[in-house]
Amino acid sequence: MNPQTSATLVRGSILHFLADPGENDDADAWQFFEDGALLLEHGRVIRVGAWKEIITALPTLTKQTARTFDYSGKLVMPGLIDTHVHYPQMQVMGSFGRQLLDWLEHYTFPAEATFADRGIAKKTSAFFLDRLLAHGTTTASVFATVHPHSVEAFFEAAQSRNLRMLCGKVMMDRHCPENLRDTPASALHDSRKLIERWHGKGRLRYSVTPRFAPTSTPEQLQVAGELFNGYPDMHLQSHLSENRREIEWVGELFPGHRNYVDVYDHFKLLGRGAIYGHGIHLDASERTRLAETGTAIAFCPSSNLFLGSGFFHYDAAHAAGVPVGLATDVGGGTSLSMLRTMASAYTVGQAQHKPLSAMRAWYLATLGGAQALALDNFIGNFKPGKEADFAVFDFNATPELDWRMRHASSIEEKLFALITLGDERCVSATHILGERVTPA
Ligand SMILES: [Zn+2]
Repeated sequence: MNPQTSATLVRGSILHFLADPGENDDADAWQFFEDGALLLEHGRVIRVGAWKEIITALPTLTKQTARTFDYSGKLVMPGLIDTHVHYPQMQVMGSFGRQLLDWLEHYTFPAEATFADRGIAKKTSAFFLDRLLAHGTTTASVFATVHPHSVEAFFEAAQSRNLRMLCGKVMMDRHCPENLRDTPASALHDSRKLIERWHGKGRLRYSVTPRFAPTSTPEQLQVAGELFNGYPDMHLQSHLSENRREIEWVGELFPGHRNYVDVYDHFKLLGRGAIYGHGIHLDASERTRLAETGTAIAFCPSSNLFLGSGFFHYDAAHAAGVPVGLATDVGGGTSLSMLRTMASAYTVGQAQHKPLSAMRAWYLATLGGAQALALDNFIGNFKPGKEADFAVFDFNATPELDWRMRHASSIEEKLFALITLGDERCVSATHILGERVTPA
């Protein structure tokens, strides 16, 4: 690359997090530059700071040749991170009136069965990823289906877009339709092939994906444990304690275990890099064990409200030291928008008289998500060396927001109005490794 054109400057109101701001919105936890600059090179962050300071310090040649994206007046944030989402369920998002176990039977399984057709996997992957980017989401932990080619299709689409993504083949060898069933041996073989082909290729990583304890035999959970512990930097995603009937069922299927977390613990499915959707009805000892092992929870508020599953106790999880990320859980969730997800997280907190602050919500959707997915060495904020995936938000994207913003003064107030009144219409642009990918 011509060194004279390798630098990129981004101008805008820049916000990123260095740590969890906590309940008291610790101002040391973030940096905000009203007229800020991001200096990038080869898709990575070189510096972040006030526009004037960065421009003053820049060598004249770089100043003259750098490519500049001017987003003055708009908010530039690290790309949003969806820590739990099912791409094959795009076709059932917004379906009526079921709770978890009926939902799986009536909507999820029939939708996932259509992925026996490679063409559907390919078409859906492209649509899903393009829509994620349009929503400002640049990384996600993604469930495919039981079909290995559903992962192939997803990773091919993610690779062609240069994305940092996690995905895995669903492992499921019981309590599901015959046409979606694998076996411990086929799951081991197919997952290994996918891992060898994709894990660590470019920005992609594999995530071992047993759907949840009820749909895997003990033999298959054993295999999942071997896979998760058998490769460096391996990830794992599954579900935990979403619904009361599910928890009772786990108790019947796995007698002799202390609780739901203990089932996963027994099969060596806990640890850094492992993330479980929901974790709504956990007891204190389960939270302690998750925290001890560095296992994360994906908080899926819109899905939990939509399926009537219950309220996630964010404060209890945080107090126990469990890493938490935010997630849409589409198709149980009703939108790919992390803004709407943050608004739902606030609602869930408010219903428990513990409202989530705007700062904390944006932390969870960026750095918090990266930490929960064990990807914070690469993404999550604008520290020098991080990969330059970012989204640009328009505070005035709709007439209501525009009206509201005239009466908002602090950045906290503006960020809260943005998540409460906003959605993907507020995403002006999304950049991957510094390159603008949407709008093209
Ligand atoms: Zn899920």
